[in-house]
Amino acid sequence: FCPVGAITENSNVRKVLEELERHDKVLVVQTAPATRVALGEEFGLEPGSISTGKMVAALRKLGFDYVFDTNFAADLTIMEEGSEFLERLKNGGPFPMFTSCCPAWVNMAEKLYPQFLKNLSSAKSPHQMLGPLVKTYFAKKKGIDPENILVVSIMPCTAKKDDIIRPQHMVNGMPGVDIVLTTRELGKLIKMKKIPYASLPDEEYDSPLGESTGAAAIFGVTGGVMEAALRTAYELGLGKPLPKVEFTNVRGFDGIKEATIDFDGKQLKVAVAHGGANVRKLLDKITSGEVYYDFVEIMACPAGCIGGGGQPKSLDKNVLTRRMEGIYTIDERSTIRKSHENPSIKKLYEEFLEHPLSHVSHELLHTTYVDRSKKSKIHEKAMA
Ligand code: SF4
Repeated sequence: FCPVGAITENSNVRKVLEELERHDKVLVVQTAPATRVALGEEFGLEPGSISTGKMVAALRKLGFDYVFDTNFAADLTIMEEGSEFLERLKNGGPFPMFTSCCPAWVNMAEKLYPQFLKNLSSAKSPHQMLGPLVKTYFAKKKGIDPENILVVSIMPCTAKKDDIIRPQHMVNGMPGVDIVLTTRELGKLIKMKKIPYASLPDEEYDSPLGESTGAAAIFGVTGGVMEAALRTAYELGLGKPLPKVEFTNVRGFDGIKEATIDFDGKQLKVAVAHGGANVRKLLDKITSGEVYYDFVEIMACPAGCIGGGGQPKSLDKNVLTRRMEGIYTIDERSTIRKSHENPSIKKLYEEFLEHPLSHVSHELLHTTYVDRSKKSKIHEKAMA
């Protein structure tokens, strides 16, 4: 057991290197929203520099056959999660609905707050949606045997390594995602292969799982999933355009943020918490009935995924602010800023998924949770 996770890091880098060298499968890679504003730091770029195109180019140089964007699946997550929220509004709950894309939060809920498991959205996290789509929708389009595809996720997150082995994430007897590499590990791999990252010309993601919106980009920062979900839930639920696309009350680094949204006369109360202590404070207040919310976003890492445990280490004390600025710049520069307007997402529903929360969507894109609180108490006693 390695207390700082260095052994796991090395073994995952080695595993990917071996797969790239053997290359007896179709090698697919996807990159999370927060990676593109941090990976450059490994190669001397300023924190917050947006190096999406260089990252795509480096992954192709490493030998991946297809480079897809987890942001595409973040848009899909919003379609599913936003629709689930609208269903709950119609059916009277259960509220609050909690976001579910942070595996460290899911672990916390299963072990310490099992009373909230029914409140968690059943939507999988974006990379766990993209993996199964690659092995079904994409495999069929290309005529590839899904058994012959290996999916690697580049994530800011160390918790996602455990997340991929949850039995609930198996699809047709296969894991949706085979290997998780952190942003830092990808940096290591690029350095090992002596790829000149900083001078690489930009390249584009592959289609059709590579197109995304500004709403998907902001998943990488605290408040982003909430804002993206509100953009879509408002327009799909009320059938009219948002007066303003930005929800600035849920932005910034305050540990707990609150906002009230006018939903055609109904006042929706939402909250966002990030970082372990803030999360527990908020959950305890909800449990005691001191506060009420309709929708809550939880991210375990301070500042959300831009501050994830797998991101590059930095000595810049403003590193998180600069990464956050990078993320909002991507959103502002995007021509499409709402998940439900992503043309590739529309096509995916037309060709394959039918509609949000359909039978196929439930099979591939949704999950279940398990109360592990008893097991965890027994473990605590044994350790005492
Ligand atoms: Fe992973 Fe942290 Fe993001 Fe949660 S907040 S998904 S633990 S990087």
